[in-house]
Amino acid sequence: MLPNNSISSVINQNLFGLGISATVAINEKSNALLRSGKKVYRFGFGQSPFPVPDIVVKALQENAFQKDYLPVRGLPELRAAIANFINRRKGTSADAGDVLIGPGSKELMFLLQLSYYGELVIPAPCWVSYAPQAQIIGRHIMRVPTRRANNLLLMPDELEAICSNDPERPRLLVLNYPSNPTGAAYDAPTLQALAEVARKYRITVLSDEIYAELNHQGRSNSIAEYYPEGAIISGGLSKWCGAGGWRLGFFVFPKSMKRLEDAMAVCASETFTSTSAPIQYAAVKAFEESAEIEDYLVLARAILAAVGRYIYSRLSGMEVYMPRPDGGFYLFPDFEVFREGLLRKGLHTDREMCEALLEEAGVALLPGSDFGVRPDRYTARLSYVDFDGRAAMAAARENLAKQQALDDAFVEEVCPNIAGGVEAMAQWFGGL
Ligand code: PMP
Ligand code: GLU
Repeated sequence: MLPNNSISSVINQNLFGLGISATVAINEKSNALLRSGKKVYRFGFGQSPFPVPDIVVKALQENAFQKDYLPVRGLPELRAAIANFINRRKGTSADAGDVLIGPGSKELMFLLQLSYYGELVIPAPCWVSYAPQAQIIGRHIMRVPTRRANNLLLMPDELEAICSNDPERPRLLVLNYPSNPTGAAYDAPTLQALAEVARKYRITVLSDEIYAELNHQGRSNSIAEYYPEGAIISGGLSKWCGAGGWRLGFFVFPKSMKRLEDAMAVCASETFTSTSAPIQYAAVKAFEESAEIEDYLVLARAILAAVGRYIYSRLSGMEVYMPRPDGGFYLFPDFEVFREGLLRKGLHTDREMCEALLEEAGVALLPGSDFGVRPDRYTARLSYVDFDGRAAMAAARENLAKQQALDDAFVEEVCPNIAGGVEAMAQWFGGL
């Protein structure tokens, strides 16, 4: 008999059941609806609303001619600038040799899971891509449910409970703070206590700090301060620098993980070779200390804090639970309070709820189950980025110069889609 080599029978079985990543899919769906003339509040995809800072754009223009492949680990000046940036902010002692550059931190995470042999430990909820990456590679996934009382953050005793069951197992723990999808961040004592458990069981920690610069208070803690030998810091340009489409991410490794960094560099050299040269030259400007970048971040944080507060207080006023946002641009509302009305409408899962909300109210959210929580709970991720970031920055600059706080009136005037989307949600849930 001839072998059955139809295309579906030769696709890697690890990919079965996986669709296009939920975040990417909602972006494409919202854009298609907008193009068809429908009013859509784009609270689904999480991308920065702010423009790339002018000095960084200018640096890219000046480096458009850079045409050569760069070293696989990255442009030496950029690796040095990132090490200094991390040291300034986190009190670490990284040097250029500890930094690996990639085309987005997402790609580096994939290469990490490929290079590291062990179980992936992730809190639920957490960002959408860690688990599918592990599934593609064939790694075991351990999801740890979190509790409301802890703001949906992973607690040290929960980590201890998992590890003490099987203490010798190699583990890769991903901690992301401020969190996508909740906006919550760990305080220093919790990070310290998590570091102690991680040290006890020699867990490798991937500290995904891609939203750290967008902590609304300006200062972000890092587990690397308490676990310097075991924590890799992950970051990039996508979120705080408004440059998701530029595709530039980095990892900063502890010196003790040189072998792992080398293994990832091997994978990088056999896959993407090196990250875009003009982008790397331009990125040096983003990570160097400058008044322009600090000014930009002050405005971005103040605006995001005001918008996050606005939605949080409106939805909380409807008895909807969610962690209070500390940073980034996401909220994770739990609409369980509307369970009866949702069931009356025949909506049994978070996904059905999100589909109906998009269809009937034009509000795009992502179902909580994409972030690893139970589909029969009515949770969703809301990304509060549907506004004109450039205009918001100009308005915020004026307000702050006059010592005026960015209040609800600011949000309603400068971010009409935020106010409109929240109102559309209130109407829809209220009318169930
Ligand atoms: N981590 C988190 C928590 C994210 O939300 C994202 C979203 N892009 C990434 C990592 C990956 O970012 P990038 O590949 O653009 O660096
Ligand atoms: N991180 C963004 C989100 O969670 C989108 C980009 C991506 O997933 O790579 O919506």
